[in-house]
Amino acid sequence: MILRKTHNQFSAAFLEEHRAFILYDIFHQVQALLLYPPNCSCSGSCLCDQRREQIVLSLNVALYNRTQEERDDPKFLRLIACLLDIPEDPYFKKHHGDAYPLWLIKEEFQRKESALKSTEQVIITLLRVAKSYEAVIGESRGSTTEALDVLVGKNPLKTKVKSLKKGEYICGEKTYRKHLNIYKSVSHFIAALGIMKEDISFFSDASFESVENFLKVAHAVRKQLISLRTDGIKENALFLEEDLVQLPSWIKSDDIDLELGPLQEQIDNLKNRALLIDPKTRQSITLADYERGIRFPVL
Ligand SMILES: [Zn+2]
Repeated sequence: MILRKTHNQFSAAFLEEHRAFILYDIFHQVQALLLYPPNCSCSGSCLCDQRREQIVLSLNVALYNRTQEERDDPKFLRLIACLLDIPEDPYFKKHHGDAYPLWLIKEEFQRKESALKSTEQVIITLLRVAKSYEAVIGESRGSTTEALDVLVGKNPLKTKVKSLKKGEYICGEKTYRKHLNIYKSVSHFIAALGIMKEDISFFSDASFESVENFLKVAHAVRKQLISLRTDGIKENALFLEEDLVQLPSWIKSDDIDLELGPLQEQIDNLKNRALLIDPKTRQSITLADYERGIRFPVL
């Protein structure tokens, strides 16, 4: 799934000049996808496509109306309406907001806040698990199970995990998995919000610069998730290219550092499990022991 049509009818110079509007348009589509994720489980007739279109249109019309207040230039406004895919009819422009009002978008985000937050926690933890593997074996690896072990501890329902501070996890393992399943295709956007230390209020008051940064961070997260290797599943990949909503090709993230460090506990676990084998004697010791100064026994 790719966000929006390409703007082929416009010149590169025009697109550069009006970059802010194009980025906001993409940002609005992301919001619609977060509220109505692509792989819904609607039974019977699914209205999600229609809802997404209504949301994008409402947000774009609001942006257009704000622009109109600031700049009374009919030619410019016509171009912006075209960029934002807003129909010509002035009556419609004024009244479309009623179809999916902005307050309802806000309310929907509030309703889904905890599900989004739990997905954010899993993805960010997963990225940090991957960093831990990278630090020990030089390869980005990790699984949902490992991320959940870090988040909720092993067997959280049977034993109270004392080491976890209150508020560190927000639901049980089953619910984490359920939310991840629902939001998987847009999880890079959700993680980007957390990495930027923003919450859902970001969606209603983001500046142009922060929208651009948000899309770049999501792009960087997407790349890392796709490069993640996981044993025992199809193609050894938890996230395939087609699993995560794609951003336009001109959005790049080369200058983005996600600043997500490895997890010390995870590193220690991995070092306790990683075996070094003496090629001559086939004897083995763990990497953790080796780092403690222990060497292969001399036979
Ligand atoms: Zn649906």
